[in-house]
Amino acid sequence: MNDAPGNRALADRIRIETRAWIDGQAVPAQSGKTFVTLNPATSALLAEVAACDHADVDRAVKAARRAFDDGAWSRCDPGKRKETLLRFAALLRQHGEELALLESLDSGKTIRDCRNEVAHEVPHFFQWYAETIDKSFGRVAPTGQGTVSMIVQEPIGVTGLIVPWNFPLLMAAWKLAPALATGCSVVLKPAEQSPLTALRLGELAAEAGIPAGVLNVVPGLGEEAGQAIGRHSDIDMVSFTGSGEVGAYLLGYAAQSNLKPVGLELGGKSPFLVLEQAAITDSLIESAVMAAFWNGGQNCSANMRQIVHRRHRDEFVARVIERVKAFVVGDPLDPATDIGAMITAEHRDRVEGFLQSGVSEGAQVLLGGASLDDNPGFFLKPTVFDAMTPDMKIAREEIFGPVLGMITVDSDEEALRLAVDTEFGLHASVFTQNISQALQFARALPVGTVSVNSFSEGSVATPFGGYRRSGSLSRDNGLEALAQYQQTKTIWIDLES
Ligand code: NAD
Repeated sequence: MNDAPGNRALADRIRIETRAWIDGQAVPAQSGKTFVTLNPATSALLAEVAACDHADVDRAVKAARRAFDDGAWSRCDPGKRKETLLRFAALLRQHGEELALLESLDSGKTIRDCRNEVAHEVPHFFQWYAETIDKSFGRVAPTGQGTVSMIVQEPIGVTGLIVPWNFPLLMAAWKLAPALATGCSVVLKPAEQSPLTALRLGELAAEAGIPAGVLNVVPGLGEEAGQAIGRHSDIDMVSFTGSGEVGAYLLGYAAQSNLKPVGLELGGKSPFLVLEQAAITDSLIESAVMAAFWNGGQNCSANMRQIVHRRHRDEFVARVIERVKAFVVGDPLDPATDIGAMITAEHRDRVEGFLQSGVSEGAQVLLGGASLDDNPGFFLKPTVFDAMTPDMKIAREEIFGPVLGMITVDSDEEALRLAVDTEFGLHASVFTQNISQALQFARALPVGTVSVNSFSEGSVATPFGGYRRSGSLSRDNGLEALAQYQQTKTIWIDLES
Protein backbone atom coordinates (compact mmCIF):
# COMPACT_ATOMS: atom_id res chain seq x y z
CA MET A 1 0.00 0.00 0.00
CA ASN A 2 1.49 3.36 -1.02
CA ASP A 3 2.06 6.31 1.29
CA ALA A 4 0.94 9.83 0.31
CA PRO A 5 3.99 10.66 -1.89
CA GLY A 6 3.67 7.27 -3.59
CA ASN A 7 -0.01 7.92 -4.31
CA ARG A 8 0.78 11.40 -5.57
CA ALA A 9 3.41 10.05 -7.94
CA LEU A 10 0.91 7.52 -9.29
CA ALA A 11 -1.84 10.13 -9.53
CA ASP A 12 0.44 12.42 -11.56
CA ARG A 13 0.78 9.72 -14.19
CA ILE A 14 -2.93 9.09 -14.69
CA ARG A 15 -4.26 9.93 -18.13
CA ILE A 16 -7.40 12.00 -17.65
CA GLU A 17 -10.18 11.50 -20.21
CA THR A 18 -12.15 14.71 -20.63
CA ARG A 19 -14.40 13.85 -23.58
CA ALA A 20 -17.90 12.48 -23.60
CA TRP A 21 -18.42 8.84 -24.60
CA ILE A 22 -21.10 8.55 -27.25
CA ASP A 23 -21.83 5.64 -29.57
CA GLY A 24 -18.58 3.86 -28.76
CA GLN A 25 -16.32 6.88 -29.17
CA ALA A 26 -14.72 9.60 -27.06
CA VAL A 27 -15.98 12.90 -28.46
CA PRO A 28 -15.84 16.58 -27.51
CA ALA A 29 -19.08 18.48 -26.97
CA GLN A 30 -20.54 19.53 -30.33
CA SER A 31 -20.44 23.15 -29.20
CA GLY A 32 -16.73 22.79 -28.33
CA LYS A 33 -17.52 24.11 -24.85
CA THR A 34 -15.89 22.81 -21.69
CA PHE A 35 -16.28 23.25 -17.95
CA VAL A 36 -13.58 22.99 -15.31
CA THR A 37 -13.25 20.47 -12.56
CA LEU A 38 -10.97 21.36 -9.64
CA ASN A 39 -9.05 19.23 -7.20
CA PRO A 40 -10.95 20.03 -3.96
CA ALA A 41 -7.87 19.24 -1.86
CA THR A 42 -5.71 21.91 -3.54
CA SER A 43 -8.22 24.07 -5.46
CA ALA A 44 -5.97 23.56 -8.53
CA LEU A 45 -7.46 23.00 -11.98
CA LEU A 46 -7.67 19.29 -12.67
CA ALA A 47 -9.26 19.16 -16.11
CA GLU A 48 -11.44 20.94 -18.64
CA VAL A 49 -14.27 18.61 -19.50
CA ALA A 50 -16.67 18.47 -22.48
CA ALA A 51 -19.75 20.52 -21.55
CA CYS A 52 -22.50 18.50 -23.19
CA ASP A 53 -25.82 20.12 -23.88
CA HIS A 54 -29.06 19.22 -25.62
CA ALA A 55 -27.35 18.42 -28.94
CA ASP A 56 -24.94 15.93 -27.35
CA VAL A 57 -27.67 14.33 -25.26
CA ASP A 58 -29.77 13.96 -28.39
CA ARG A 59 -26.89 12.28 -30.20
CA ALA A 60 -26.38 9.92 -27.25
CA VAL A 61 -30.10 9.11 -27.11
CA LYS A 62 -30.16 8.33 -30.85
CA ALA A 63 -27.19 5.96 -30.41
CA ALA A 64 -28.82 4.37 -27.36
CA ARG A 65 -32.12 3.90 -29.21
CA ARG A 66 -30.43 2.37 -32.23
CA ALA A 67 -28.47 0.00 -30.00
CA PHE A 68 -31.60 -0.95 -28.07
CA ASP A 69 -33.63 -1.57 -31.20
CA ASP A 70 -30.99 -3.67 -32.96
CA GLY A 71 -31.12 -6.11 -30.04
CA ALA A 72 -27.38 -6.90 -29.87
CA TRP A 73 -27.53 -6.18 -26.14
CA SER A 74 -31.21 -5.88 -25.26
CA ARG A 75 -32.24 -9.23 -26.77
CA CYS A 76 -28.98 -11.13 -26.87
CA ASP A 77 -28.53 -14.53 -25.28
CA PRO A 78 -28.60 -13.98 -21.48
CA GLY A 79 -25.45 -16.01 -21.05
CA LYS A 80 -23.62 -13.74 -23.48
CA ARG A 81 -24.80 -10.58 -21.71
CA LYS A 82 -23.76 -12.06 -18.42
CA GLU A 83 -20.26 -12.97 -19.64
CA THR A 84 -19.78 -9.51 -21.11
CA LEU A 85 -20.85 -7.78 -17.91
CA LEU A 86 -18.58 -10.08 -15.91
CA ARG A 87 -15.71 -9.08 -18.21
CA PHE A 88 -16.59 -5.44 -17.55
CA ALA A 89 -16.50 -6.12 -13.78
CA ALA A 90 -13.09 -7.78 -14.16
CA LEU A 91 -11.74 -4.83 -16.14
CA LEU A 92 -13.02 -2.39 -13.51
CA ARG A 93 -11.26 -4.47 -10.86
CA GLN A 94 -8.08 -4.49 -12.92
CA HIS A 95 -8.23 -0.68 -13.23
CA GLY A 96 -9.39 -0.26 -9.61
CA GLU A 97 -6.29 1.50 -8.35
CA GLU A 98 -6.27 3.98 -11.24
CA LEU A 99 -9.98 4.70 -10.81
CA ALA A 100 -9.64 5.07 -7.03
CA LEU A 101 -6.83 7.62 -7.41
CA LEU A 102 -8.77 9.52 -10.06
CA GLU A 103 -11.88 9.56 -7.87
CA SER A 104 -9.90 10.88 -4.92
CA LEU A 105 -8.32 13.65 -7.02
CA ASP A 106 -11.63 14.70 -8.54
CA SER A 107 -13.84 14.54 -5.45
CA GLY A 108 -11.56 15.15 -2.44
CA LYS A 109 -12.64 11.80 -0.99
CA THR A 110 -10.03 9.87 0.97
CA ILE A 111 -8.01 7.34 -0.96
CA ARG A 112 -8.93 4.79 1.68
CA ASP A 113 -12.65 5.20 0.95
CA CYS A 114 -12.05 5.34 -2.80
CA ARG A 115 -10.13 2.08 -2.73
CA ASN A 116 -13.01 0.46 -0.93
CA GLU A 117 -15.83 1.98 -2.98
CA VAL A 118 -14.30 2.24 -6.42
CA ALA A 119 -11.75 -0.53 -6.56
CA HIS A 120 -13.75 -3.05 -4.56
CA GLU A 121 -17.51 -2.29 -4.38
CA VAL A 122 -18.05 -0.97 -7.92
CA PRO A 123 -16.77 -4.12 -9.70
CA HIS A 124 -18.70 -6.22 -7.20
CA PHE A 125 -21.96 -4.47 -8.16
CA PHE A 126 -21.45 -5.29 -11.83
CA GLN A 127 -20.56 -8.86 -10.99
CA TRP A 128 -23.61 -9.29 -8.75
CA TYR A 129 -26.08 -8.00 -11.35
CA ALA A 130 -24.32 -9.90 -14.14
CA GLU A 131 -24.98 -13.07 -12.19
CA THR A 132 -28.71 -12.34 -12.03
CA ILE A 133 -29.05 -12.24 -15.81
CA ASP A 134 -29.36 -15.96 -16.51
CA LYS A 135 -31.31 -16.66 -13.32
CA SER A 136 -34.32 -14.42 -13.92
CA PHE A 137 -37.54 -16.13 -14.92
CA GLY A 138 -40.97 -14.96 -15.98
CA ARG A 139 -44.16 -16.34 -14.41
CA VAL A 140 -47.27 -18.17 -15.52
CA ALA A 141 -50.53 -16.82 -14.10
CA PRO A 142 -53.23 -19.08 -12.60
CA THR A 143 -55.85 -19.02 -15.35
CA GLY A 144 -58.49 -21.52 -16.48
CA GLN A 145 -57.89 -24.65 -18.58
CA GLY A 146 -58.51 -22.85 -21.86
CA THR A 147 -55.80 -20.21 -21.49
CA VAL A 148 -52.15 -19.79 -20.71
CA SER A 149 -50.99 -16.44 -19.46
CA MET A 150 -47.33 -15.57 -19.19
CA ILE A 151 -46.01 -12.58 -17.29
CA VAL A 152 -42.65 -11.43 -18.60
CA GLN A 153 -40.27 -8.63 -17.72
CA GLU A 154 -38.79 -6.62 -20.58
CA PRO A 155 -36.08 -3.93 -20.50
CA ILE A 156 -37.74 -0.53 -20.52
CA GLY A 157 -35.50 0.81 -23.30
CA VAL A 158 -33.33 3.94 -23.20
CA THR A 159 -32.59 5.04 -19.64
CA GLY A 160 -31.24 8.38 -18.40
CA LEU A 161 -29.14 8.04 -15.25
CA ILE A 162 -28.24 11.24 -13.39
CA VAL A 163 -25.92 10.96 -10.39
CA PRO A 164 -24.41 13.21 -7.70
CA TRP A 165 -20.85 13.98 -6.65
CA ASN A 166 -20.62 12.43 -3.20
CA PHE A 167 -19.98 8.84 -4.37
CA PRO A 168 -19.41 9.52 -8.08
CA LEU A 169 -18.63 6.08 -9.46
CA LEU A 170 -20.48 4.08 -6.82
CA MET A 171 -23.77 5.93 -7.42
CA ALA A 172 -23.26 5.41 -11.16
CA ALA A 173 -22.68 1.68 -10.56
CA TRP A 174 -25.80 1.40 -8.37
CA LYS A 175 -27.84 2.37 -11.42
CA LEU A 176 -25.72 1.27 -14.34
CA ALA A 177 -25.22 -2.32 -13.24
CA PRO A 178 -28.94 -3.24 -13.00
CA ALA A 179 -29.83 -1.13 -16.06
CA LEU A 180 -27.24 -2.92 -18.21
CA ALA A 181 -28.12 -6.30 -16.72
CA THR A 182 -31.75 -5.95 -17.82
CA GLY A 183 -30.67 -5.11 -21.38
CA CYS A 184 -31.37 -1.39 -21.33
CA SER A 185 -29.30 1.24 -23.12
CA VAL A 186 -27.99 4.06 -20.97
CA VAL A 187 -27.25 7.77 -21.13
CA LEU A 188 -25.31 8.50 -17.94
CA LYS A 189 -24.70 12.01 -16.66
CA PRO A 190 -22.13 12.37 -13.87
CA ALA A 191 -22.14 15.44 -11.63
CA GLU A 192 -20.16 18.37 -13.00
CA GLN A 193 -18.12 18.50 -9.78
CA SER A 194 -16.79 14.94 -10.21
CA PRO A 195 -17.14 13.68 -13.80
CA LEU A 196 -13.78 12.02 -14.38
CA THR A 197 -14.17 8.41 -13.29
CA ALA A 198 -17.44 8.02 -15.20
CA LEU A 199 -15.64 9.14 -18.35
CA ARG A 200 -13.32 6.14 -18.06
CA LEU A 201 -16.28 3.76 -18.13
CA GLY A 202 -16.99 4.05 -21.82
CA GLU A 203 -13.62 2.83 -22.99
CA LEU A 204 -13.63 -0.05 -20.49
CA ALA A 205 -17.16 -1.02 -21.52
CA ALA A 206 -16.08 -1.15 -25.15
CA GLU A 207 -13.03 -3.23 -24.22
CA ALA A 208 -15.33 -5.65 -22.38
CA GLY A 209 -17.45 -6.06 -25.50
CA ILE A 210 -20.52 -3.99 -24.61
CA PRO A 211 -21.83 -2.89 -28.04
CA ALA A 212 -21.45 0.74 -29.16
CA GLY A 213 -24.41 2.92 -28.14
CA VAL A 214 -25.41 0.78 -25.15
CA LEU A 215 -23.47 2.92 -22.66
CA ASN A 216 -23.11 6.65 -23.30
CA VAL A 217 -21.62 9.13 -20.83
CA VAL A 218 -22.46 12.82 -21.19
CA PRO A 219 -20.69 15.14 -18.76
CA GLY A 220 -22.20 18.59 -18.42
CA LEU A 221 -23.97 21.05 -16.22
CA GLY A 222 -27.19 20.03 -14.53
CA GLU A 223 -29.32 22.72 -16.15
CA GLU A 224 -28.00 21.75 -19.59
CA ALA A 225 -27.12 18.06 -19.94
CA GLY A 226 -29.27 17.02 -16.95
CA GLN A 227 -32.29 19.00 -18.05
CA ALA A 228 -31.91 17.72 -21.64
CA ILE A 229 -32.10 14.14 -20.32
CA GLY A 230 -35.10 14.97 -18.17
CA ARG A 231 -36.98 16.55 -21.07
CA HIS A 232 -35.98 14.12 -23.84
CA SER A 233 -39.01 12.43 -25.32
CA ASP A 234 -37.12 9.37 -26.49
CA ILE A 235 -35.76 8.50 -23.05
CA ASP A 236 -38.03 5.87 -21.50
CA MET A 237 -37.16 6.41 -17.84
CA VAL A 238 -34.88 8.48 -15.62
CA SER A 239 -33.20 7.27 -12.47
CA PHE A 240 -31.88 10.12 -10.37
CA THR A 241 -29.84 10.45 -7.20
CA GLY A 242 -29.40 13.93 -5.79
CA SER A 243 -31.21 16.75 -4.08
CA GLY A 244 -34.96 16.98 -3.57
CA GLU A 245 -35.00 20.27 -5.45
CA VAL A 246 -33.59 18.74 -8.64
CA GLY A 247 -35.72 15.62 -8.13
CA ALA A 248 -38.78 17.88 -8.27
CA TYR A 249 -37.51 19.49 -11.49
CA LEU A 250 -37.18 16.04 -13.04
CA LEU A 251 -40.79 15.19 -12.19
CA GLY A 252 -41.75 18.45 -13.90
CA TYR A 253 -39.66 17.69 -17.00
CA ALA A 254 -41.28 14.26 -17.24
CA ALA A 255 -44.74 15.82 -16.94
CA GLN A 256 -43.89 18.30 -19.68
CA SER A 257 -42.38 15.75 -22.07
CA ASN A 258 -43.30 12.06 -22.40
CA LEU A 259 -44.48 11.16 -18.86
CA LYS A 260 -41.41 8.96 -18.40
CA PRO A 261 -41.19 7.30 -14.98
CA VAL A 262 -38.64 8.97 -12.71
CA GLY A 263 -36.90 7.03 -9.93
CA LEU A 264 -35.74 9.34 -7.14
CA GLU A 265 -33.09 8.77 -4.48
CA LEU A 266 -32.94 11.99 -2.50
CA GLY A 267 -31.61 13.50 0.71
CA GLY A 268 -32.13 12.70 4.36
CA LYS A 269 -31.87 13.85 7.94
CA SER A 270 -31.42 10.50 9.54
CA PRO A 271 -31.54 9.80 13.28
CA PHE A 272 -29.08 7.78 15.34
CA LEU A 273 -30.87 6.54 18.46
CA VAL A 274 -29.06 5.53 21.63
CA LEU A 275 -31.87 4.08 23.74
CA GLU A 276 -31.92 3.45 27.48
CA GLN A 277 -30.96 -0.20 27.10
CA ALA A 278 -28.04 0.46 24.72
CA ALA A 279 -24.56 -0.66 25.66
CA ILE A 280 -21.99 2.07 25.07
CA THR A 281 -19.30 -0.03 23.46
CA ASP A 282 -16.38 0.86 21.17
CA SER A 283 -18.48 -0.42 18.30
CA LEU A 284 -21.35 1.95 19.15
CA ILE A 285 -18.98 4.92 19.34
CA GLU A 286 -17.35 3.94 16.04
CA SER A 287 -20.81 3.69 14.46
CA ALA A 288 -21.78 7.10 15.86
CA VAL A 289 -18.76 8.88 14.43
CA MET A 290 -18.91 7.03 11.10
CA ALA A 291 -22.62 7.81 10.85
CA ALA A 292 -21.87 11.51 11.09
CA PHE A 293 -18.41 11.89 9.56
CA TRP A 294 -17.94 9.17 6.95
CA ASN A 295 -17.19 10.82 3.61
CA GLY A 296 -16.94 14.12 5.49
CA GLY A 297 -20.65 13.84 6.24
CA GLN A 298 -21.36 14.23 2.51
CA ASN A 299 -23.62 11.26 2.67
CA CYS A 300 -27.37 11.06 2.05
CA SER A 301 -27.80 8.62 4.92
CA ALA A 302 -25.55 10.51 7.35
CA ASN A 303 -26.99 10.08 10.85
CA MET A 304 -26.31 13.62 11.91
CA ARG A 305 -29.19 13.80 14.41
CA GLN A 306 -27.91 11.78 17.34
CA ILE A 307 -30.65 11.31 19.92
CA VAL A 308 -29.20 9.99 23.15
CA HIS A 309 -30.92 8.81 26.33
CA ARG A 310 -29.86 10.93 29.32
CA ARG A 311 -28.60 7.83 31.09
CA HIS A 312 -25.81 7.51 28.50
CA ARG A 313 -25.24 11.14 27.67
CA ASP A 314 -22.05 11.90 29.58
CA GLU A 315 -20.25 8.73 28.61
CA PHE A 316 -21.41 9.02 24.99
CA VAL A 317 -20.24 12.63 24.70
CA ALA A 318 -16.86 11.96 26.29
CA ARG A 319 -16.13 8.95 24.09
CA VAL A 320 -17.35 10.57 20.88
CA ILE A 321 -15.17 13.62 21.52
CA GLU A 322 -12.15 11.46 22.27
CA ARG A 323 -12.68 9.53 19.02
CA VAL A 324 -13.29 12.58 16.85
CA LYS A 325 -10.16 14.28 18.20
CA ALA A 326 -8.18 11.38 16.71
CA PHE A 327 -9.55 12.01 13.20
CA VAL A 328 -6.99 13.06 10.61
CA VAL A 329 -8.34 15.78 8.32
CA GLY A 330 -6.41 16.71 5.22
CA ASP A 331 -4.62 15.25 2.19
CA PRO A 332 -7.06 12.74 0.66
CA LEU A 333 -4.17 10.85 -0.95
CA ASP A 334 -2.66 10.07 2.44
CA PRO A 335 -3.92 6.63 3.51
CA ALA A 336 -3.96 7.86 7.13
CA THR A 337 -6.55 10.57 6.36
CA ASP A 338 -10.06 10.07 7.74
CA ILE A 339 -11.77 13.19 6.39
CA GLY A 340 -10.86 14.63 3.01
CA ALA A 341 -12.01 17.84 1.35
CA MET A 342 -15.52 19.19 0.85
CA ILE A 343 -16.43 18.97 -2.82
CA THR A 344 -16.29 22.73 -3.62
CA ALA A 345 -15.55 26.04 -1.90
CA GLU A 346 -19.26 26.93 -2.24
CA HIS A 347 -20.29 23.74 -0.50
CA ARG A 348 -17.75 24.30 2.31
CA ASP A 349 -19.18 27.84 2.75
CA ARG A 350 -22.71 26.45 2.80
CA VAL A 351 -21.78 24.01 5.58
CA GLU A 352 -20.08 26.83 7.49
CA GLY A 353 -23.36 28.75 7.20
CA PHE A 354 -25.06 25.87 9.03
CA LEU A 355 -22.37 25.98 11.72
CA GLN A 356 -23.04 29.68 12.27
CA SER A 357 -26.77 29.09 12.35
CA GLY A 358 -26.31 26.35 14.97
CA VAL A 359 -24.33 28.71 17.18
CA SER A 360 -26.74 31.59 16.74
CA GLU A 361 -29.70 29.35 17.61
CA GLY A 362 -28.02 28.27 20.83
CA ALA A 363 -26.34 24.91 20.11
CA GLN A 364 -23.03 24.42 21.88
CA VAL A 365 -19.88 23.64 19.87
CA LEU A 366 -17.91 20.94 21.68
CA LEU A 367 -15.39 20.48 18.88
CA GLY A 368 -14.55 21.96 15.48
CA GLY A 369 -16.83 24.67 14.15
CA ALA A 370 -14.42 26.01 11.51
CA SER A 371 -12.43 25.31 8.36
CA LEU A 372 -8.86 24.05 8.35
CA ASP A 373 -6.48 27.01 8.79
CA ASP A 374 -4.14 28.16 6.01
CA ASN A 375 -5.12 25.56 3.47
CA PRO A 376 -5.98 26.21 -0.18
CA GLY A 377 -8.22 23.13 -0.22
CA PHE A 378 -11.85 23.01 0.87
CA PHE A 379 -11.43 21.40 4.27
CA LEU A 380 -13.63 21.59 7.36
CA LYS A 381 -12.82 20.33 10.83
CA PRO A 382 -15.36 17.84 12.18
CA THR A 383 -17.88 19.63 14.39
CA VAL A 384 -19.76 18.21 17.35
CA PHE A 385 -22.76 20.19 18.61
CA ASP A 386 -24.31 19.58 21.99
CA ALA A 387 -27.66 20.97 23.14
CA MET A 388 -29.16 20.78 19.65
CA THR A 389 -32.94 21.16 19.83
CA PRO A 390 -35.40 19.68 17.33
CA ASP A 391 -36.56 23.06 16.02
CA MET A 392 -33.09 24.33 15.05
CA LYS A 393 -32.20 24.65 11.39
CA ILE A 394 -29.23 22.29 11.91
CA ALA A 395 -31.66 19.67 13.24
CA ARG A 396 -34.14 19.99 10.37
CA GLU A 397 -32.22 20.58 7.13
CA GLU A 398 -29.71 18.33 5.39
CA ILE A 399 -26.24 19.79 6.06
CA PHE A 400 -24.14 17.35 4.03
CA GLY A 401 -20.95 18.13 5.95
CA PRO A 402 -18.89 16.83 8.90
CA VAL A 403 -21.33 17.78 11.66
CA LEU A 404 -22.74 15.71 14.52
CA GLY A 405 -25.59 17.21 16.54
CA MET A 406 -26.67 15.76 19.84
CA ILE A 407 -30.13 15.87 21.39
CA THR A 408 -30.52 14.47 24.91
CA VAL A 409 -33.85 12.82 25.77
CA ASP A 410 -35.40 11.52 29.00
CA SER A 411 -37.20 8.50 27.56
CA ASP A 412 -37.20 6.13 24.60
CA GLU A 413 -40.71 7.35 23.68
CA GLU A 414 -39.35 10.88 23.37
CA ALA A 415 -36.49 9.53 21.23
CA LEU A 416 -38.96 7.92 18.81
CA ARG A 417 -41.12 11.04 18.69
CA LEU A 418 -38.13 13.20 17.73
CA ALA A 419 -36.75 10.63 15.30
CA VAL A 420 -39.92 10.66 13.18
CA ASP A 421 -40.32 14.43 13.38
CA THR A 422 -38.76 15.12 9.99
CA GLU A 423 -39.94 15.35 6.41
CA PHE A 424 -37.26 12.85 5.33
CA GLY A 425 -37.22 9.04 5.59
CA LEU A 426 -34.02 7.55 4.27
CA HIS A 427 -32.27 5.82 7.14
CA ALA A 428 -32.12 5.33 10.91
CA SER A 429 -29.81 3.55 13.35
CA VAL A 430 -31.16 2.11 16.58
CA PHE A 431 -28.99 1.00 19.48
CA THR A 432 -30.46 -1.15 22.24
CA GLN A 433 -29.67 -4.52 23.80
CA ASN A 434 -33.40 -5.29 23.90
CA ILE A 435 -34.14 -7.11 20.65
CA SER A 436 -37.93 -6.75 20.97
CA GLN A 437 -37.55 -3.02 21.36
CA ALA A 438 -35.17 -2.91 18.40
CA LEU A 439 -37.80 -4.59 16.21
CA GLN A 440 -40.57 -2.34 17.51
CA PHE A 441 -38.48 0.71 16.61
CA ALA A 442 -37.53 -0.77 13.24
CA ARG A 443 -41.23 -1.14 12.44
CA ALA A 444 -42.20 2.26 13.78
CA LEU A 445 -39.59 4.29 11.90
CA PRO A 446 -40.86 5.53 8.50
CA VAL A 447 -37.53 5.09 6.70
CA GLY A 448 -36.17 2.91 3.90
CA THR A 449 -33.35 1.34 5.91
CA VAL A 450 -33.12 0.73 9.66
CA SER A 451 -29.81 -0.42 11.02
CA VAL A 452 -29.80 -2.10 14.44
CA ASN A 453 -26.72 -1.88 16.67
CA SER A 454 -24.60 -0.67 13.76
CA PHE A 455 -24.47 2.07 11.16
CA SER A 456 -24.92 0.35 7.81
CA GLU A 457 -26.59 1.04 4.50
CA GLY A 458 -26.78 -2.69 3.77
CA SER A 459 -25.13 -4.39 0.82
CA VAL A 460 -25.60 -4.88 -2.90
CA ALA A 461 -28.21 -7.52 -2.03
CA THR A 462 -30.46 -5.20 0.00
CA PRO A 463 -32.68 -2.50 -1.51
CA PHE A 464 -31.85 1.11 -0.67
CA GLY A 465 -34.21 4.06 -0.97
CA GLY A 466 -36.30 6.54 0.90
CA TYR A 467 -39.74 7.00 2.41
CA ARG A 468 -41.37 10.43 2.42
CA ARG A 469 -39.29 13.19 0.73
CA SER A 470 -36.20 10.98 0.58
CA GLY A 471 -37.26 9.23 -2.59
CA SER A 472 -39.85 7.58 -4.75
CA LEU A 473 -41.07 4.00 -4.67
CA SER A 474 -38.10 2.89 -6.74
CA ARG A 475 -35.11 1.28 -5.04
CA ASP A 476 -31.44 1.05 -5.86
CA ASN A 477 -29.63 -2.22 -5.05
CA GLY A 478 -30.97 -5.68 -4.42
CA LEU A 479 -33.15 -7.52 -6.90
CA GLU A 480 -35.64 -4.65 -6.41
CA ALA A 481 -33.39 -2.33 -8.44
CA LEU A 482 -34.03 -4.40 -11.57
CA ALA A 483 -37.70 -3.34 -11.52
CA GLN A 484 -36.77 0.28 -12.22
CA TYR A 485 -35.39 -0.70 -15.60
CA GLN A 486 -38.04 -3.19 -16.64
CA GLN A 487 -41.67 -3.20 -17.61
CA THR A 488 -44.12 -6.01 -17.19
CA LYS A 489 -45.89 -7.61 -20.14
CA THR A 490 -48.81 -10.04 -19.99
CA ILE A 491 -49.09 -12.53 -22.86
CA TRP A 492 -52.60 -14.04 -22.82
CA ILE A 493 -53.06 -17.11 -25.03
CA ASP A 494 -56.47 -18.57 -25.76
CA LEU A 495 -55.94 -22.28 -26.35
CA GLU A 496 -59.46 -23.03 -27.54
CA SER A 497 -60.25 -20.52 -30.26
P1 NAD B 1 -27.92 17.82 -7.10
O1 NAD B 1 -29.35 17.52 -7.06
O2 NAD B 1 -27.49 19.24 -7.10
O3 NAD B 1 -27.22 17.18 -8.39
C1 NAD B 1 -27.38 15.82 -8.71
C2 NAD B 1 -27.27 15.65 -10.21
O4 NAD B 1 -28.35 16.36 -10.82
C3 NAD B 1 -25.99 16.20 -10.82
O5 NAD B 1 -25.55 15.34 -11.85
C4 NAD B 1 -26.44 17.52 -11.40
O6 NAD B 1 -25.67 17.97 -12.48
C5 NAD B 1 -27.84 17.20 -11.85
N1 NAD B 1 -28.71 18.37 -12.00
C6 NAD B 1 -28.60 19.58 -11.38
N2 NAD B 1 -29.57 20.41 -11.83
C7 NAD B 1 -30.31 19.71 -12.72
C8 NAD B 1 -31.44 20.02 -13.51
N3 NAD B 1 -32.01 21.22 -13.48
N4 NAD B 1 -31.94 19.05 -14.30
C9 NAD B 1 -31.39 17.82 -14.35
N5 NAD B 1 -30.30 17.48 -13.64
C10 NAD B 1 -29.76 18.42 -12.84
O7 NAD B 1 -27.28 17.01 -5.89
P2 NAD B 1 -25.78 16.97 -5.43
O8 NAD B 1 -25.47 18.24 -4.72
O9 NAD B 1 -24.89 16.54 -6.55
O10 NAD B 1 -25.82 15.73 -4.39
C11 NAD B 1 -26.18 15.87 -3.08
C12 NAD B 1 -27.60 15.39 -2.86
O11 NAD B 1 -27.73 14.03 -3.30
C13 NAD B 1 -27.96 15.36 -1.39
O12 NAD B 1 -29.25 15.87 -1.20
C14 NAD B 1 -27.90 13.88 -1.05
O13 NAD B 1 -28.66 13.53 0.07
C15 NAD B 1 -28.39 13.26 -2.30
N6 NAD B 1 -27.98 11.84 -2.36
C16 NAD B 1 -28.94 10.85 -2.20
C17 NAD B 1 -28.59 9.50 -2.24
C18 NAD B 1 -29.61 8.41 -2.08
O14 NAD B 1 -29.30 7.27 -2.45
N7 NAD B 1 -30.79 8.68 -1.57
C19 NAD B 1 -27.24 9.14 -2.44
C20 NAD B 1 -26.30 10.15 -2.59
C21 NAD B 1 -26.70 11.50 -2.56
